[in-house]
Amino acid sequence: MSLTRSYRAAIAPNNWSTFCVCLVESLAVSTGRRQVSPPLPVHQQILSSDTIRRFDSSDDKGNNPLRMLSLEEAIERSLAATPKLGGETISLANAEGRFAASDAKAKVSLPAFDNSAMDGYAVRSCDLKSATADSPVGLMCVGVIPAGTFPAGSLESETCMKIYTGSPIPDGTDAVIMQEDCRSTPGDGATILCNERVNPWENIRLQGEDIREGDAVISNGSRITAGTIGLLTASGHDRIEVGRRPRVGLLATGSELTEPPGCLKPGEIYESNRAMLASLAARVNAEPTPYPIVPDSLDNTVAALERAFAENDVVVTSGGVSVGDHDHVKPAIERLGGSVDFWKIAVKPGKPFVLGQVGSKPLFGLPGNPVSALVTYLLIVRPALLNMQGAREWRLTKRPGCLVDELVNRGDRRHFMRVTIDDRGLVLSAGGQRSHMLSSLAKANGLVDLPPKSRWSKGERVEVIPIDQ
Ligand code: AMP
Ligand code: MG
Repeated sequence: MSLTRSYRAAIAPNNWSTFCVCLVESLAVSTGRRQVSPPLPVHQQILSSDTIRRFDSSDDKGNNPLRMLSLEEAIERSLAATPKLGGETISLANAEGRFAASDAKAKVSLPAFDNSAMDGYAVRSCDLKSATADSPVGLMCVGVIPAGTFPAGSLESETCMKIYTGSPIPDGTDAVIMQEDCRSTPGDGATILCNERVNPWENIRLQGEDIREGDAVISNGSRITAGTIGLLTASGHDRIEVGRRPRVGLLATGSELTEPPGCLKPGEIYESNRAMLASLAARVNAEPTPYPIVPDSLDNTVAALERAFAENDVVVTSGGVSVGDHDHVKPAIERLGGSVDFWKIAVKPGKPFVLGQVGSKPLFGLPGNPVSALVTYLLIVRPALLNMQGAREWRLTKRPGCLVDELVNRGDRRHFMRVTIDDRGLVLSAGGQRSHMLSSLAKANGLVDLPPKSRWSKGERVEVIPIDQ
């Protein structure tokens, strides 16, 4: 067995527990059974591994926060923990992507009146029964109906009126003949020669055939699209009641974190989760506020959480949710009088994930590794942010695709793997799948949910979860 670099580093003096972990991992790899979650070094354990194992057991269906939850259960609990924020009335011009907070009805019918679908002549269809190109029928043009006017009087037999698309049709008319099927008699501008017959109601748009006054035009919880804005405006609305935007406090914990463009001191890294999560949260109407980086201490974490809870509807943290000495998010929730619902989910990347509550407000504690933070945001936080706005649909959309690369999950948790899917639906691995690897995350446009211990071959049909949603 060759020594890997991390393995060599681990056998440095005073690093005995890390050495053990590496050894277990290396043995597992060499025997083809990669162990996904090696035992924690003893000094990092809050509880003994026996206790943790007991709570992990699959027959524990209780409410113990130490149990590793299925993704479905984690989502269900998160939705249950997120209060609806209530509605606000806004201009339709700003409503795209928001969620209706009540039903709305059409204030007028669409079309509001019978009108022409063509530029041409309003006629009585019975007058043109015999019209052909060889034997056209002449009609006396007795008026013009520009859009925005309403014709006075009724159309008499063997007459017509010039009409435009959208102009109201006059009484007595039951069809419009297209301008292209007519010509005026040379030397007699008033007589129109019609080369075609028309059927009754041809080229006429009838009042209410689209929507009738009082019909529902949008229902509570549905997403407002450009199309619904069009329909709502056309049916008489200028404002709409929508679910309020969740204010999301974004905290990044970690004494190693600093912000670009400053220089990195030894051991420091640039913090990247707040900006990444803010951009995703904004996609679902949230109002994210990034707070200063929180160094790893309980007092710092408590103070930062207290402020974020006071100023937001929901708090999202990253880092500090595992079982290390420097993981303070869970104790800080408890110090603030809150509770931890669960903190482990059977998902890779992203096993340590906290759902907490302080007062009536939820906290989502994401793992610090950027890929884990993004994946757990998409899977669990996004649904909750949508639910708070009263959205009827919070599930991630999926795109069908066909694998071009083989995908393998040797672990015992489902693995959301980074992939690219092109416009033909061909799906490739986006590269390295470890949870700190941002280059493959940047390249990926989707995730594939690979069940535990599975191997999917080239040619397999898969469902891809687009990341940008
Ligand atoms: P933690 O979840 O705090 O144990 O962090 C796990 C890994 O993610 C560590 O390598 C951290 O340095 C890294 N990390 C934590 N928070 C961030 C962040 N906000 N931006 C980038 N990397 C982070
Ligand atoms: Mg940390």
